[in-house]
Amino acid sequence: MIAPTAIARMIADETARFTSANPRSAALARDAARHWHRGVPFHWMLDWGTPFPLFAARAEGSRLWDVDGHVYDDFCLGDTGSMFGHSPAPVARAIAQQGAHGLTFMLPTEDAVAVGDLLAERFGLPFWQTTSTASEANRAVIRWCRGITGRDKTLVFNGCYHGAVDDAFVDLRHGVPELRRSLVGQVYDMREHTRVIEFNDLAALEAALAPGDVACVLTEPALTNVGMVLPDPGYLEALRDLTHRHGTLLVFDETHTISTGPGGWTGTHGPLPDLFVLGKPVAGGVPCAVYGFSAEVAERMERARAANESGHSGIGTTLSANALALAAMRAALAEVMTPAAYAHMLPLADRLAETLRAAIVAHNLDWHVTHVGARGEFICTGTPPRNGTEARAAMQGDLERALHLYLINRGVLIAPFHNMTLVCPATTEDQVARLGNILGECLSSLME
Ligand code: PMP
Repeated sequence: MIAPTAIARMIADETARFTSANPRSAALARDAARHWHRGVPFHWMLDWGTPFPLFAARAEGSRLWDVDGHVYDDFCLGDTGSMFGHSPAPVARAIAQQGAHGLTFMLPTEDAVAVGDLLAERFGLPFWQTTSTASEANRAVIRWCRGITGRDKTLVFNGCYHGAVDDAFVDLRHGVPELRRSLVGQVYDMREHTRVIEFNDLAALEAALAPGDVACVLTEPALTNVGMVLPDPGYLEALRDLTHRHGTLLVFDETHTISTGPGGWTGTHGPLPDLFVLGKPVAGGVPCAVYGFSAEVAERMERARAANESGHSGIGTTLSANALALAAMRAALAEVMTPAAYAHMLPLADRLAETLRAAIVAHNLDWHVTHVGARGEFICTGTPPRNGTEARAAMQGDLERALHLYLINRGVLIAPFHNMTLVCPATTEDQVARLGNILGECLSSLME
């Protein structure tokens, strides 16, 4: 048991340490505040728990340097955008080459042909479209699913996150659907068109699909945005069968679970969904996302499109599939997200999980470490959560903040918001061992 007083002391000590060690970041933070709202060009940059934002100077592979000259072992990797390392050489080369030859034309380039083939071969779905972000891909997918089924409901799981997709911002609190409190400025009651149930609950799923009005189920194969919740054995297969039986389309958002293997969770464990979304790392960090779908879905999409007047569909934006994004995606898929890269990442992620478990056990803590391939998570509770409610109950905001600050001050970045670690092709055994040692020192200090 870690005492709240110890946590408060660590936050105070580490805040002071961060402040004195980062004068250049502090100065830039003051200057940036002249014109950036709250001092940052994007407000998530304030979410690291530091007293002012850490300004990055550069990054390469598994390392990041800040403007004060500290070097970090980066296990956050841009919260997945750089899951295959910072500036992988093939992507950097492709960007430089395309950068000299035009960035966006609203016309396809030759890369489009290669990328289409790569996506279909790797993920097993025949047809694809591109957007600029995973949020946008999920929004497009929901629209298409409603459009082709003529149904108005989307089903999501409690604790899910699919990006800036308002339809998915519905939580269950004590079993009752509630709008997510952080959903600023939304005037529609998303509960009218979104049904929310707990993950791993087949009876609830059956009941939610039974009325026959659900266009699609949108989910990650394992929930990775509320700590980490794995599917029970057989759950996803049952989900596949039930959606099929009820005429509901199944969408897997593999933006994070691409950590499982070259073909994502689907390629490693199955089952194949009707639609598949992948964003963030798919172009090595250049804004880009894709969604794939079955031939049957493609045919229904075409019928829905043809039945409507031509013109703007509300799906897609001007920079979608621009030449730069396609060049970067081609390099990332063909040369970076390779089976050889995963052959390094997956065993090292196993090692990382063992290392963290050892540090936790050495301090007699009843915490749980889990991982989906290269993506790990430690949860400050003994029982692995089976759904969003259990996962939320396990979160310990102040303790996690103290841990994160302690790690940052000793040159280790893990994802803010939760305790997520990513292993990339450039991550080394030494970096993994160091993270384990520093976590151990942090726990010792908290338990003194
Ligand atoms: N899907 C999942 C599973 C995500 O975790 C996120 C972002 N964390 C997104 C989609 C949205 O990605 P983006 O913010 O790049 O649009």
